Amino acid sequence: MDRPNDNCCRWINGDVKSGKATWCGAPTRHGSSWCLEHRRVVYVRWRPVSGAPKQAPTPPPES
Ligand SMILES: [Zn+2]
Repeated sequence: MDRPNDNCCRWINGDVKSGKATWCGAPTRHGSSWCLEHRRVVYVRWRPVSGAPKQAPTPPPES
């Protein structure tokens, strides 16, 4: 699987482990690693404060 160039979305569709994954490859704005659509998805996952995360991070063990 080839990496897209710096101006293409780096979002990965599919399962990398299965070998069937493909890059989104949509054009991105300068300095961004993802297209507008996927950047939104990434930000939702990284900022669970603004809503319920699709994949909740594992909480640290309580001491
Ligand atoms: Zn994309």
